[in-house]
Amino acid sequence: MTYSFEQARESVLREVGGLGASEQALTSDSAGRVLAEDIFADRDYPPFARSARDGFAVRAADLPGELRVIGEVRAGEVFEGAIGTGEAVEIMTGAPMPAGADAVVMIEHTRRSDDRLVIERSLDPGDNFNPRGAEARRGDRVLTAGVPLGFAEIAVLATVGRTCVSVHRMPRVAILPTGDEIVEAGTQPREFQIRNSNAWSLAAQTRRAGAIPEILPIARDEYESTRASIERGLAFDLLLLSGGVSAGKYDIVERVLADLGATFFFDRVLIQPGQPLVFGRARDTFFFGLPGNPASTMVTFELFARAAIDRLSGVLKPWLPLLRAKLNSEVRHKPGLTRFLPARLSDDGSTVQPETWQGSGDVAALARANAFLVADADRETWNAGDDIRVLIK
Ligand code: AMP
Ligand code: MG
Repeated sequence: MTYSFEQARESVLREVGGLGASEQALTSDSAGRVLAEDIFADRDYPPFARSARDGFAVRAADLPGELRVIGEVRAGEVFEGAIGTGEAVEIMTGAPMPAGADAVVMIEHTRRSDDRLVIERSLDPGDNFNPRGAEARRGDRVLTAGVPLGFAEIAVLATVGRTCVSVHRMPRVAILPTGDEIVEAGTQPREFQIRNSNAWSLAAQTRRAGAIPEILPIARDEYESTRASIERGLAFDLLLLSGGVSAGKYDIVERVLADLGATFFFDRVLIQPGQPLVFGRARDTFFFGLPGNPASTMVTFELFARAAIDRLSGVLKPWLPLLRAKLNSEVRHKPGLTRFLPARLSDDGSTVQPETWQGSGDVAALARANAFLVADADRETWNAGDDIRVLIK
């Protein structure tokens, strides 16, 4: 089955669901985990009408005018009295509004001598304070199961007093490099041998995606050894194979998987790098046969395997950060494939420059790049100044 880029992504998102197992985690340790329960406000937020400024709590109807300061309220205190006509209470950011006040005038907009306060501008009721419950009412859902926990979500959990939280189990991902020419990265290769970089990049990408990688020993391009390695990999939540899925005589990964009873959802995607990409399931484990060229492996992981890890992790809406930027120079390609070309996005994210590279094996060019240009399959030329899609690396 040959799919377009979009069809292949849809297929991954459609087929892969959550592992359905959750565990308790300390909120302080849960950054990057995926929330497995809805979180509700334990009280109104803010819990009281809260000044947003340092200044004076007043009655807006009294302004502009001269008021009498009858006291002060700091954050963490309550003002015991109430404000009447012509009165003001000095108030600090975060302090509760005194009874009777309906606005805060910023200190910069006042002149004070002793208890006399002159305000030359007017205010509307509600200015410069947050009413009780404006952010959330007690019982409102403030976080939804399926969101990855970033710093803001962690702040919400701490705010509502949840120091412990239910998160999805992290998927365990087997990484299986294949190839007779591949040797361990820590060894001195012979002239015609290649160090195993894919297992390392895939492990880094897997970790970044919030899963636990395990690198299996390199499988040789020979049926029995590949089969034994794949069977081992199928005991994990996801199996990522590198290499052995092209049309070569010794590309036997697909044959082994077929013999193991695999269902193949697709085995070719109209993208470059990464065209001979295989996605399927065997023995209840999803697998990707990623083409072995380092750029293909890295790009196809970001485009497809990451979405699968997200889904296994319980993420409701996997996200692919495709933005738009202006091209610095012309780009041409042969239509038919969606191409992902290493590129440099400017610091402000507004313009993008293709990186020179020697093709899918050029790892150094990928390291220099901070993004990929996305050349759509149905367009041939982009001129300098045209908008183009960009995938952040
Ligand atoms: P294959 O997909 O097996 O045909 O491999 C395509 C290209 O990727 C070949 O040039 C391989 O040497 C290279 N390659 C395959 N596996 C790896 C790996 N684990 N690390 C680095 N390069 C690899
Ligand atoms: Mg190979």
